[in-house]
Amino acid sequence: MTSFMIDEAVNKRTPLKWTSYDTCPFCNIIANKLPAFRVLETDMVIAFLDILPIRPGHTLVVPKMHCSNLSDLPSDYSRAVGEALSTIANAITRGMTINLNVVCNQGYGQAVPHVHFHMVPAPRTVEPPSTQSPTNRSMNHHEMVMSEYHRREELDEDTGRNMADRIRSRL
Ligand code: AMP
Ligand code: ZN
Repeated sequence: MTSFMIDEAVNKRTPLKWTSYDTCPFCNIIANKLPAFRVLETDMVIAFLDILPIRPGHTLVVPKMHCSNLSDLPSDYSRAVGEALSTIANAITRGMTINLNVVCNQGYGQAVPHVHFHMVPAPRTVEPPSTQSPTNRSMNHHEMVMSEYHRREELDEDTGRNMADRIRSRL
């Protein structure tokens, strides 16, 4: 995520589903107390779809240990997270798109204080600059990223289930 997206993240709205839980939402998902569209699970890591996806397929990879900062994560969990990131990246690139962003916020821009990596597939098509006219032009890269950020909407049941199935089927 580029710096302007991190700036936006600092003031982002809180999804309704988080506010009713006093404790960490990701620990609640790990404990099966909160639903999630699960993509992958091992004894040390869980991956599920982000409830407010930046783009379709936006997945969170989370160690099964409550730890706020990546810099404090024990190395066995780091290894397990790294392996999950690479497995899911492979599934996304084979099933959806070869371009993706992987980011982990620590403190700055971090809303959920439990280590997590965002894996965000890139948009499938971007209109080439040659087709743009001053009056009816495509958005430039910066505008496109910003508009995607503001368009984030809560994931619905059918879309979430289908997308999680799609990624899981390629693991
Ligand atoms: P960050 O700002 O890096 O802490 O990102 C936290 C992410 O967690 C946001 O993108 C949220 O949409 C996502 N999120 C929060 N609660 C849930 C939940 N219950 N299920 C799935 N994603 C969630
Ligand atoms: Zn937690």
